[in-house]
Amino acid sequence: MAESADQVHARVMAAADEHGRMPLPSVAEWDIFPWEVVDGALATKRLADPAPEKPREGEDGTDCRICATDPAGVIWTNERWRLKHLAERSGLPLVVILEPLEHLDFDDLDDTMAAEYGVLAVRIARIIEGLPNIGRCHVQRIGDGARHLHIWFMARTRGLPSVLGSFAVDWDDILPPGPEEPWREDLAAVAQQLASYDGRATVDA
Ligand SMILES: [Zn+2]
Repeated sequence: MAESADQVHARVMAAADEHGRMPLPSVAEWDIFPWEVVDGALATKRLADPAPEKPREGEDGTDCRICATDPAGVIWTNERWRLKHLAERSGLPLVVILEPLEHLDFDDLDDTMAAEYGVLAVRIARIIEGLPNIGRCHVQRIGDGARHLHIWFMARTRGLPSVLGSFAVDWDDILPPGPEEPWREDLAAVAQQLASYDGRATVDA
């Protein structure tokens, strides 16, 4: 079971500085980070000039890291889809990614796969939101980094009022990862519950 809000809070406070703050995550250095400090005050960055879109990873069907996914990270699969975790734990209690086995973008899905995606997304969100100490599962398709469709399911802890809304994504980078055992238990629970509908779990409880 994922940590409770009290457990997360105590663990983060133990790792934080004397003001209760965690170090800035690397995202603060990214070009697309929209805020900066000017004369000691937080300000928005100037909107960058228009520019051609950069090609995404796997745009031409080669060098796609998602096609080359490490099977060790896959927790569930069926004939056309798989659910996986990232190589390393992050600040939120559970983050999993749904992707087609085939090198397809969102708008490449035919009606059959689009319907499958809808059913899978609802099942995964329902399963994750049924886990203890999870407040909500945020579901996101962004797709600006890689062409191969990957949908994020990001679970946030119930009862942590800072970690809410779209900023839960930022807290995923800010908070130190929690303990490994409950994370693995929750991954196995998600995989097995999803396999009770369809497909097969590829991790053990
Ligand atoms: Zn691919």
